[in-house]
Amino acid sequence: MDGKTVRMYTCGPTVYNFVHIGNLRTFTFQDILRRWLHTRGYMLQHVMNITDVEDKIIRSAMAEHKTLKEYTEVYEKAFLEDADALRLQRPERLVRATEHIPEMVSAIQTLEAKGYTYISEGSIYYRISKFPEYGKLSHNDFSGIRAGARVDMDEYDKADARDFVLWKAKKDSEPSWNEPIGDGRPGWHIECSVMAMKYLGETLDIHAGGIDLTFPHHENEIAQSEAITGKPFARFWLHAEHLIVEGQKMSKSMGNFFTLRDLIEKGYQPEVIRYLLASVPYHNKLNFTFDQLKAAGTAIDRLRNYKLRLDSNTFSAGINEKLVERTAAAVKQFDEALDDDLNTAEALAAIFEYVRDTNSAMDSGDFHEGNLETARALMERFDSIFDVLRPTVRQGEITDEEIEGLIAERVNARKSKNFKRSDEIRNQLLERGVILEDTKEGMRWKRK
Ligand code: AMP
Ligand code: ZN
Repeated sequence: MDGKTVRMYTCGPTVYNFVHIGNLRTFTFQDILRRWLHTRGYMLQHVMNITDVEDKIIRSAMAEHKTLKEYTEVYEKAFLEDADALRLQRPERLVRATEHIPEMVSAIQTLEAKGYTYISEGSIYYRISKFPEYGKLSHNDFSGIRAGARVDMDEYDKADARDFVLWKAKKDSEPSWNEPIGDGRPGWHIECSVMAMKYLGETLDIHAGGIDLTFPHHENEIAQSEAITGKPFARFWLHAEHLIVEGQKMSKSMGNFFTLRDLIEKGYQPEVIRYLLASVPYHNKLNFTFDQLKAAGTAIDRLRNYKLRLDSNTFSAGINEKLVERTAAAVKQFDEALDDDLNTAEALAAIFEYVRDTNSAMDSGDFHEGNLETARALMERFDSIFDVLRPTVRQGEITDEEIEGLIAERVNARKSKNFKRSDEIRNQLLERGVILEDTKEGMRWKRK
């Protein structure tokens, strides 16, 4: 709205368990969005919530005789570790629902004063019929809504619009907050309205989440926020389509439910998973398959080999003007694809076609020293968004510095004709997954 800073709110995880790769698909899309907005010159004020009070959390915490905090902090930490492994940039603010109870209470009081609420069995509900625009985001027709039908859970039956709970009365020994509006706890929807507006103002630039949140969660956020402020709540809504696995909805009972940890345990590198999650435009369903995951690994290898070639070959002097133009065209294609509602598939196609063309130019000796800078800049532009070229160093794995150190030692050993030591080092590196290649342009290394 101010032409400089994009104020963005994204619905974060409910920390009752490890996040799954479907959640991570949505979070990866948001990361690509962040990075592209940055590249296009915007600053970001991005807020993500952590839902740390909710039906499932309360059930699980009580079953394990833990406080909400004790129960959720484990999964919050795990979420942040997973996000780091996938190289998701941290939002400017991560905010916990339980740390914003007074603000939620006061928002509910405002809704109460404006006549949007009613009380039933001690809980406070939002009266949807008071908000005639209800349904404008999901374009559902709620004209037949049953007035007074209520839902007080955080888990919803899709398709059916019902008055939703703002403040849920305490039941039995559930954790609760004793507030002027009653002894209870907030509903899920009020949390996002309140935290979004607290940090980003009454009208946000972007609100994003997974497609399942469109209704009822985001519809309810609009109803609450706009009833409070009388202003539009968000200017743009972006929803990621779901990830499915081998054509099926992911579910624990089907045995096709994966967390990031599951896949890493199976030996897949986080950046390979990131690549696959980012490669399908967010407005399309993503069909996750192990074949695709292997293909993602191969794709990254091709790009890494190409980059290695740029970094380690020696090229003849001069410049190939045609290639300069080819590079500019690739940059344009890449940028236009991402400008087009983040068409990541197109953007990747631009890079792969370019890599194929420049590889053949190198083969035929038509790639010159003067072409290096722009070629490198394009790969950097690509990687500043996709971020997959740097291999993840696993615990105990040899670092780039150690490799370079051993290679320097090997060069010296060979200079002094100590071939025994030189071979030793080569084998030692091989054992640790590093391959040395003596090419006519000199020595280069890569990880297996
Ligand atoms: P939750 O922790 O359930 O609140 O979900 C966190 C985010 O993941 C929300 O934006 C959801 O819409 C999104 N999400 C849940 N399941 C999937 C899925 N299968 N594919 C993509 N996004 C999902
Ligand atoms: Zn939300």
